[in-house]
Amino acid sequence: MPPIRIVLCRPSHPGNIGAAARAMKAMGLADLRLVQPERFPAPEAQWMATSAVDVLERATVHETLHDAIHDCVAAFALSARSREWSPQVLDVRSAAAQAVEMNDRVAFVFGNEAAGLTNEEMFACQYLVHIPANPEFSSLNLAQAVQVVAYEVRMCVDPAMPFSRVEKRATVEDLEGLYAHLEEAAVATGFMTPQSRLRERWRRLFSRVPALAREEVNILRGLLKALMSGRHPRDEPRE
Ligand code: SAH
Repeated sequence: MPPIRIVLCRPSHPGNIGAAARAMKAMGLADLRLVQPERFPAPEAQWMATSAVDVLERATVHETLHDAIHDCVAAFALSARSREWSPQVLDVRSAAAQAVEMNDRVAFVFGNEAAGLTNEEMFACQYLVHIPANPEFSSLNLAQAVQVVAYEVRMCVDPAMPFSRVEKRATVEDLEGLYAHLEEAAVATGFMTPQSRLRERWRRLFSRVPALAREEVNILRGLLKALMSGRHPRDEPRE
């Protein structure tokens, strides 16, 4: 993950600091800075952080926003409200993409729960970022806004689905083996004459399956083999 920093300006509820730490850690971020938190450290922060207490323990407390972002190459201010005058406005997805592309130390800066960011805090940043929301109620909870940013950053860096099993993909050779096997079975059973165009049809059928796994090809071939040997599947269950 790129060195992306989350800065919370004047957070009033320590529980939100802990929830923000948890939101960050779950997405692979670790650099948390707090500008004049009302109360920190605090037990509520620890409770809400659960297993992300390490992020809390490493969080640093700063007297000014400048102190928290002075070493960053860019800062993105998050605001629930549009402002008459502001730095360049970006939606959160584009902001995450820009931040990741910079591949350097950048900060996302969040405001106080009740009042949001002051104009001065916003103008300390180069971009104003908006999370699209219900225009009649656009204000997310602070930690949930952190979650959305951290998630968008993660999606730019690692959109892979961690839950999908990594399977060996079928090669051209595997597929050709399957086609030959299908043909053999189809001809042997009299389902298809050697002149038939069926072979083109199943090539077309399998070409529509994205990322066929080798194991899946093997299952089909195993089934063909069992059918051709005339074995009843219940005699010898496949495992
Ligand atoms: N009442 C405040 C909102 C505070 S919510 C206001 O009107 O500004 C706390 C912080 O979460 C905000 O300062 C902002 O940094 C972030 N946030 C909440 N909702 C957001 C949204 N829709 N877009 C961008 N940031 C948001």
